[in-house]
Amino acid sequence: MTDLLKSYATVVGPAVIEQLRQLALLLQHLRVVHVNSTRLGGGVAEILEKLVPLMRELGIDTRWEIITGNPEFYHCTKAFHNGLQGKAVEIPTEWLANFEAINAVNAERLRPVLEEADIVFIHDPQPAPLLRLLPKRQGRWIWRCHIDINRPHRPIWRYLRNFVKDYDASIFSLAAFAQPLPHPQYLIPPSIDPLSEKNVDLSEAEIAEVCREFGIDRERPVILQVSRFDRFKDPVGVIQAYRLAKAYLPSLQLVLAGGSASDDPEGEAVLAEVRQAAGNDPDAHILLLPPDAHRTINALQRAADVVLQKSLREGFGLTVTEALWKGKPVIGGDTGGIRLQVIDHHTGFLVNTPEGAALRIRYLLHHSEKRREMNLKSREFVRENFLITRHLREYLALMVSLMYQAEDRIELV
Ligand code: UDP
Repeated sequence: MTDLLKSYATVVGPAVIEQLRQLALLLQHLRVVHVNSTRLGGGVAEILEKLVPLMRELGIDTRWEIITGNPEFYHCTKAFHNGLQGKAVEIPTEWLANFEAINAVNAERLRPVLEEADIVFIHDPQPAPLLRLLPKRQGRWIWRCHIDINRPHRPIWRYLRNFVKDYDASIFSLAAFAQPLPHPQYLIPPSIDPLSEKNVDLSEAEIAEVCREFGIDRERPVILQVSRFDRFKDPVGVIQAYRLAKAYLPSLQLVLAGGSASDDPEGEAVLAEVRQAAGNDPDAHILLLPPDAHRTINALQRAADVVLQKSLREGFGLTVTEALWKGKPVIGGDTGGIRLQVIDHHTGFLVNTPEGAALRIRYLLHHSEKRREMNLKSREFVRENFLITRHLREYLALMVSLMYQAEDRIELV
């Protein structure tokens, strides 16, 4: 066993790693390519950064390619994202033409790699047209949707479905996201890497240093939300909840830590709204962090008493699992992938409004024994369900089933 695999064995046990090795034996030297639209920022990049080296470690020839576009391309794909999550967006036809033209340019650039790959994972809508643009492809192509597509705005899904329907399979994070499609659909929730900078244990001194740097007082309660500045993450709702709770708990501090993703053009506007909502409250810390500030985020999550992820729609929400792994109770929006992770009253609370969130903040900050009880459950819950080793096992099983035409070997929708 290599050193990297051994280090995971210390977290999940050697049997889990042995199972991965057995499955990977059926896939040795296969050429696998993952394609998405950013290397930094957001959950997809966070996952691929760790999943790709592990697949290589298991003897699978794995590459990670990104497609690039012009500003109009990212405005269009952000509108897709908003539309798939239920917003009634209208996309100008020039944007759609540009979207397809940019994909054609990327298809030319990636043609040699993608045409000869045995398995291609296309993540989210941005690169979805690549399949149609490469008719001489040899391998099996899988569309991996990370978005909360529970109730999509129909015209947007109709347009994208045209590209997606020709794939050999698709993967969703939740049964509620599955769509009528003419191919097998698999359910595979995302995961975190317990050994990444984002999630490794940190010393008290390092946590204290990060708090000092940002002027966070560790003697007073801290609530935290980490997320891109995106309206679906409801950062303004978090500020409202904080205000309502602070009326009863004057010592309360809020940290809203976010950054940008290179494929998300709306971040700046949302950050401006957030800054305006926060006003000049010295206890409301709005932190704009670089996309690789993983250890800083890790320290903030560990410093928090309660973590929020008050999203209005959420594909999964890695930030929830990150907090649960650190033993923090999470107050999460009652939506999408958050429902898989926040088990109401056990690992946290599900809420629908800023008022509801404020009540739960007050409750948790007043009941340290409930926080401790949740802490104990949360870490084990994540170990069983949301670590990268489980995620990898399911990807390997899916690849085996596609390569050996044995779809019945793994659970299908
Ligand atoms: N993240 C980060 N810096 C930020 C905001 C988020 O590193 O300023 C990380 C966060 O810790 C998580 C990922 O980006 O690992 C976001 O994934 P999630 O599934 O929560 O949301 P997405 O951005 O994919 O919608």
